[in-house]
Amino acid sequence: MMMAFAKTDCGKVRTSNQDGYLLSEGLYAVADGMGGHRGGETASRIALETLEKALKGGQPNFARLLRGLEAANRRVWETGRGNPALEGLGTTLEVLWENGNQLLLGHVGDSRIYRLRSGHLEQLTEDHSMVYEMIKKGLLTPELARTHPYRNVITRALGTDARLEPDLSSEALLPGDRYLLCSDGLHGLVEEETLCRILQDARLPEYAAECLVEAALEAGGTDNVTALVCFSGEVDRAC
Ligand code: CA
Repeated sequence: MMMAFAKTDCGKVRTSNQDGYLLSEGLYAVADGMGGHRGGETASRIALETLEKALKGGQPNFARLLRGLEAANRRVWETGRGNPALEGLGTTLEVLWENGNQLLLGHVGDSRIYRLRSGHLEQLTEDHSMVYEMIKKGLLTPELARTHPYRNVITRALGTDARLEPDLSSEALLPGDRYLLCSDGLHGLVEEETLCRILQDARLPEYAAECLVEAALEAGGTDNVTALVCFSGEVDRAC
């Protein structure tokens, strides 16, 4: 099983932390909630609790992962419906589920999963956001997207609709791989070059997660920030 550690911080501007994470026996997840008065906290908490209950202890497979995501979607959707105080309730959700030398990924929203392998950082998920669609069409550069007025508009979320459209994928897990699950409070503020350097240089996931959150705070900390870091296999003592 990978070594993993997560850190979340409210940031320097927000008054509540609507992000959340899950670390549970080979099951890793990050959620970034949204919604009216305290709704975001409710959405991310319910989604993560439901996911853990549905998946913990089960043999990882896509059917089970999808059922877990759908259960989380249903719980958040039903909580938000008929409660005006929780209008717009929803959350992003990134899931990494370890199955021997394979990883199952579930993704909805604009939080991200990255992998560092052989010194190269790769984004394994595609943001479900308006600016990401514009970048793909060549209408916007990633640099301009960081400050675009619509940068927070997401095109898919968990719990905002009775129907869920998650992205599911799988990746081979190799010794030395390092994974990062993070909310946009990190990837929206810190350059990928810096994410790569911190992941590469850290001896332990604890150190990487601490440094990543610190980097987001130094960059302004304008949003809640969450970093969940997993290291596979032998830790490179040379780092
Ligand atoms: Ca956020």
